[in-house]
Amino acid sequence: MSVAAVQKEVHVNAHPSDQLMRAERLPHILCPGCGIGSVIHCYVDAVAASGIPVNRHVCVSGIGCSGRAAGYVNVDSYHTTHGRSVPFALGIAVYNPELHVTVISGDGDLTSIGGNHFIHAARRSVSLLVLCINNFNYGMTGGQAGPTTPLSALSSTTPFGCWERPFNLPHLAHAVGASYVARWTVLHVRQLRNSILRGMQKEGFRFIEILSPCPTGFGRPNDIGDGLMEMQNYLRRCEVRNEPHLHDIDIDLTHADSPIIVGDFVDIDRPSFRPIISGPVPETRPAEAWAMVKATQIKEEPNGK
Ligand code: SF4
Repeated sequence: MSVAAVQKEVHVNAHPSDQLMRAERLPHILCPGCGIGSVIHCYVDAVAASGIPVNRHVCVSGIGCSGRAAGYVNVDSYHTTHGRSVPFALGIAVYNPELHVTVISGDGDLTSIGGNHFIHAARRSVSLLVLCINNFNYGMTGGQAGPTTPLSALSSTTPFGCWERPFNLPHLAHAVGASYVARWTVLHVRQLRNSILRGMQKEGFRFIEILSPCPTGFGRPNDIGDGLMEMQNYLRRCEVRNEPHLHDIDIDLTHADSPIIVGDFVDIDRPSFRPIISGPVPETRPAEAWAMVKATQIKEEPNGK
């Protein structure tokens, strides 16, 4: 059979996610074994299942390997500057509360350079879903240690082992006001997709930490092996616990047998931040209270003192 005849016989079906991916941007730049592609797939799968019109979804990312995500998904998306994905997304969410804004960011971008924006957006209960792809290092810039690099882990800036205590991100997110907090790995694709979907349905600041292999920046110096071996590590060590004490779920990579706790940790109702420009502001104090405040204000003397 000729090549042309074979080609005629082959029916190439579209991939179910084709509509939500920018095929013209592929192939992607991610290393073999990187987990970021799985997160992107879980996100577009959740977008498709959400029932929310695609033109109401917005994806914002910052800088780094995870920051590439916004360039690959076929929703309105923005690839912003380092550490500034949250304030950029905040502007969109506050200006148009009809939009469902998801931030896809790496651990360094989100909680180091962007750490201040992260805690205050959560404190204000800004309506954002934040996916943090945590691969324990700054992958794109050469495997430097970041705010989630585990104690004693090797990196290009900690050749004798990291001595700084890492963030426990779910504990941090809960402490500063998130209405929904979960942690999964890229091995847990069904749970992750459902978790993203749940996050899309809720109000307030929602946070999902996603552990993901970075064989190039983190796996190689720490003898973890390739991406598949890190996935095997997740398979062996992850324990699903949906109501753990969040201060107890640090990830301890120095003890190969210590469990990695994953699950849907927090799911509470907290109304979203509603500034004046985006609709009615809840009454925070009765009119009489305002009158008292006014009565105690210092009156300016006629001579200006
Ligand atoms: S450096 Fe790490 S995070 Fe970046 S693409 Fe490669 S494996 Fe993925």
